[in-house]
Amino acid sequence: MPLLLAACTFIGVDNSALRRSINWGSKQAVPTCVYLDQGVSKEDADQLLGWWNDREAAWYRLEFVPASYEPLKRDSNEFFYFQISAKLQAVKRPDRCLKQIWFVSRNFSDFMYGGAANVLGLPEIVGWTDDATRTKAWAYANVTLDLNQLVMSPGAAIRHEIYHLLGCDHFDITMGNCYEAIQNFKTWEREYLSAYSMIDVAKVQPPGQLTTADASDRNR
Ligand SMILES: [Zn+2]
Repeated sequence: MPLLLAACTFIGVDNSALRRSINWGSKQAVPTCVYLDQGVSKEDADQLLGWWNDREAAWYRLEFVPASYEPLKRDSNEFFYFQISAKLQAVKRPDRCLKQIWFVSRNFSDFMYGGAANVLGLPEIVGWTDDATRTKAWAYANVTLDLNQLVMSPGAAIRHEIYHLLGCDHFDITMGNCYEAIQNFKTWEREYLSAYSMIDVAKVQPPGQLTTADASDRNR
């Protein structure tokens, strides 16, 4: 099942006893490329990321830090969630970031759909994470005034997607798998970033100085 966030879906409930029993290690930052739809400001994005960074970041010692903010406009013919997702899928992840998050403006069509979904009992999609790589996610940046009381706030939606980005899945009631996924991500990220900066250091060496031994060291 794709990682869509509809009103009735949840990951799990904070299990503070288990969470506190875990040694979350040192503080880490996740360099994140932030994309802004028309009408969404850098401040809006920071505020929405705050839903993670003001609470979870301290819990897990893992903060989502914007590496860049770039405009990415949703076209008026991009209405369905899979069109929005396809647009983000097409944006290649730059080396400077490990995750890509797009804050999408809700428009009048979404408002109509939200109303219709409410009447018809359909789930209203408010966010998405790519299943395959868990590097890309989007969420709406604003709420429409529809009747669907069950729709999550945009802040709660992006927080939900960030859990997915870290490898958490739905209906992990005790959060055991999710906490393990976050620890695994942190371990992976530490190794990845240290290898990555080694390559950067190697790059600044004058040409011709890199021996075969150096090159093989870097590939370990
Ligand atoms: Zn979800």
